[in-house]
Amino acid sequence: MLRSERVASSSVDVCLIEDDSVQRKLAQGILSRAGYRAIEVHDAASGLAVIKSEHPKVVLCDYNLPGEDGLALCSSVRNDPAITETYFILVTAQADRELKERAWAIGVDDYITKPFDPNELVARVKVGLRMWGLQEKLRAAAVTDGLTRLCNHDHFNRLLDRELSRARRYGRPLALIVLDIDHFKAINDTFGHLVGNEVLEELARILRDNARDADVVGRFGGEEFVILLPESTSADAEKLAVRIQHAVSETLHVSALGEHSVSASFGIADTEDARVQNAADLLDLADRAMYTAKRRGRNTVVCAAAGLDAEDEPAPLQADQIESLQKRIAVLKALARDVYGQSITCLGQALVEKDPYTARHSVNVSFYAGEIARQLGCAQGTVKSVSNAGLLHDIGKVGIPDRVLLKRGPLTPLEQTIIAQVPFISTRIVECLRILESEVLIIRHQREYFDGSGMPDGLLADQIPIGARVLLVADAFDAMTTDRVYRQRRSIEEAVAELKGGAGRQFDVRAVLALEQVLERDCDKWQARIDESVDLFQLPSLQS
Ligand code: GH3
Ligand code: MG
Ligand code: MG
Ligand code: MG
Repeated sequence: MLRSERVASSSVDVCLIEDDSVQRKLAQGILSRAGYRAIEVHDAASGLAVIKSEHPKVVLCDYNLPGEDGLALCSSVRNDPAITETYFILVTAQADRELKERAWAIGVDDYITKPFDPNELVARVKVGLRMWGLQEKLRAAAVTDGLTRLCNHDHFNRLLDRELSRARRYGRPLALIVLDIDHFKAINDTFGHLVGNEVLEELARILRDNARDADVVGRFGGEEFVILLPESTSADAEKLAVRIQHAVSETLHVSALGEHSVSASFGIADTEDARVQNAADLLDLADRAMYTAKRRGRNTVVCAAAGLDAEDEPAPLQADQIESLQKRIAVLKALARDVYGQSITCLGQALVEKDPYTARHSVNVSFYAGEIARQLGCAQGTVKSVSNAGLLHDIGKVGIPDRVLLKRGPLTPLEQTIIAQVPFISTRIVECLRILESEVLIIRHQREYFDGSGMPDGLLADQIPIGARVLLVADAFDAMTTDRVYRQRRSIEEAVAELKGGAGRQFDVRAVLALEQVLERDCDKWQARIDESVDLFQLPSLQS
């Protein structure tokens, strides 16, 4: 909003208009003791001049003045739109009914009779100041957009008219930027209306930060904004638009959006353009330039002066539409994974309470498996899936009775059969969501052996998903290096020797070798990890 357009916030509280110098000094003393700033004048003509130049909040005016009287002055104030909202208190020596009625009719807000009681004078001025404050709030609300605090549609149009006639009068240029957020509906649909609102507020901040004081920034409609640049051409406006375009991509932060980026399309027009005769033309031209920017693939700036695309020309939008949909689907997928991951973590939490050993074990296996997969040079996505599968591989234990799960002694054959069900139950829990497809595959095949002698499908060597081969090694390594009630843990060296013994039969040689390589590098860290007790009650969340 233009500086001059910000609601005139006066520093003068009261304009005191009184010809009798004794009365004037008396009132001035009372007001200044009450903490109010007052300007003194002694006739109606100078009173009007001060009201126009200083915009006092309250006028305290004697009825009887040399020249025009107080009522005539009040009438001039009420008839001038620039000062009509001043709170007007009439001071009279005699308060006859006829005068009071005339005073109300002309628009006096209040009156006080001489000789006045100092407390009453202060109280009435205070009421006036309060009324002025309330009116100021209303005035501000009427021209401001509630969400973004920018200037609203109607007020922008008024300022546009005013700036346009000023530009015409002085032969100065005036430029307009119209910008519209790209695919904003998708943001609302994906993240919700409140997040959409945050995006609007953030964008408003960027516009305010980048525009000059003289520019008028407004919210024109839902996700459409306007910037009016006095004394500027399209070339100047283009520079600002490009700056804003970059600021949007770099500094528009709304945490709920995650990786999702926001962009906008910009259209620019100026008064130098022969097509612009009036405000409506300027708006229309900038708007058409903005639509051209949309048709050219969005996230771009188009100046009307550089030529617009014909509107009936088929828009080259296929590629851009596809890209936008792909983006949406990726976002939705990440969100769904997130939600599902949270529910799995809750389920994991149940396991923490039921069987702390397994909870700790899952965290360790997840860590070891991720490290081994990384060492093997697996793709980022595979590393994540393997880590997630490590967290989830024993989730099926929630379905095993406590008397079996927590039994201290050796298991009976029946109990062993029950425990052997764990991978299947884990798979059943996780498989209902396609999003965890790769994790499901790893969990399902976590007991397949390299030589084809494992469960459930007897897959051989490379037929076994790489993640499952990694998981088997990580699972065995953690089991061996952790104390159990019925046996002491083994050292890292002993565990590795055992794995090497099984390499080629139970384990994939490459996975065992990768584990050895990681240990060569990080043995101390791993040892410390084994020695420290892991915080059992904080399961890490799934990586999406
Ligand atoms: P395009 O790139 O073509 O501009 O696509 P778009 O999705 O941004 O445009 P469209 O006009 O289809 O959708 C605009 C959306 O803006 C629809 C409406 O729900 C949303 N919107 C309008 N006002 C508000 C608001 O105050 N808050 C929020 N959150 N959304 C709003
Ligand atoms: Mg739109
Ligand atoms: Mg839009
Ligand atoms: Mg729009």
